[in-house]
Amino acid sequence: MLVFKKVSDLNKYLNVKKQLGHTIGFVPTMGALHKGHLSLVKQALSHCDLSICSIFVNPTQFDDPSDLDKYPRTLDKDIQLLHDCGNDVVFAPPVEEVYPKDLDTSVEVELKDLATVMEGAFRPGHFEGMMEVVNRLLDMVNADHLFMGQKDFQQAAIVKEMIKQTNRKTTLHICPIIREDHGLAMSSRNTRLSSEQREKAKALYESLLFVKNNKHKLSIEVAKQKGLEIIQNAGMKPVYFEISDGDSLQALKKWEESSYPVACLAAFMGEVRLIDNMIL
Ligand code: AMP
Repeated sequence: MLVFKKVSDLNKYLNVKKQLGHTIGFVPTMGALHKGHLSLVKQALSHCDLSICSIFVNPTQFDDPSDLDKYPRTLDKDIQLLHDCGNDVVFAPPVEEVYPKDLDTSVEVELKDLATVMEGAFRPGHFEGMMEVVNRLLDMVNADHLFMGQKDFQQAAIVKEMIKQTNRKTTLHICPIIREDHGLAMSSRNTRLSSEQREKAKALYESLLFVKNNKHKLSIEVAKQKGLEIIQNAGMKPVYFEISDGDSLQALKKWEESSYPVACLAAFMGEVRLIDNMIL
C-alpha cells in the first residue's frame, strides 16, 4: 500500500493509472478508522481497480473548536488497518496541501433547504466546510466512484446535490450503516465514550427501531415524541429527532407525505455528540 502526503506525488501516480484505464474508487475519511470506514473501502475495492482512502481532519467543517481539538487522531493504526484490508493508496495530506494560501477552494452550490434542517440548523457552516473539502479532495483524486456512508445521511444528500450541480462525472455510492452488535452506529467519536456510556447509547438505535416498527401505527408527532423519550430515558440529551422525506430532507407532518421516510437524530451522551438515522 502506498501512502502519499503531497498532492503532486499522488497526481503523478494517479496519472499513470488513469492512462492505463484503471478506475479509481475514493473513500474520504477523517481517520480514527473503524469497521464502518473499512466497509466503504471494501466497496471501493470490489467496484474499482484502485481504492484510495484519504485521512484528513478537515478544520473548515468544525463549528466548535474544542470538537476539532478533541477529534481522535490515530494515523499509524489507521494505515495498518487499511493495509490489512487490502486498500491500495492512502492520501493523508497536511492542511497546507488541501488549502494552499493562493487557492480559492470555496464551492458555490444552491442547496435550498437541504442544509438548513437537522445538522445544518445546529452546526452553522458545517456543510459549507464539508462541501469545500469533498470538492477539493475530488479535484485532487479525480475519482470515478465516491463511497460515503448512510451514517451521515444529510451529508450524503448534500454531496449528491453538489456532484449534480458541479457536473462531476463521479458516481456516488451511499453505503449501509455498520453497527456494534448491540446496535450503536460505529463512529470515531465512540472512542470518547466510556464502556457504560457506549452500552447506554444503544438507545439511539432502539429509538429508531421503535419508530420504524410503529410507522403508520403512531402519528409522526407521537412517534417523534416516543423516540425522544427513549433517548432521554437512557441518560442522553437529544438535540433533534426528525422524521423527514429522504430526498428533500424536509420534516414530515403525515406519513402519507413521503414514500421514502427517514428518521434522523442527534444527541449528546455526556460531552460526545452522536448522530444516527434509519430509513423507515
Ligand atoms: P468520517 O471519518 O466520520 O468523516 O466518515 C468518513 C465516511 O465514513 C463518511 O462517508 C461516513 O458516512 C462513513 N461512515 C462513518 N461511520 C460509518 C458507519 N458506522 N457505517 C458506515 N459508514 C460510516
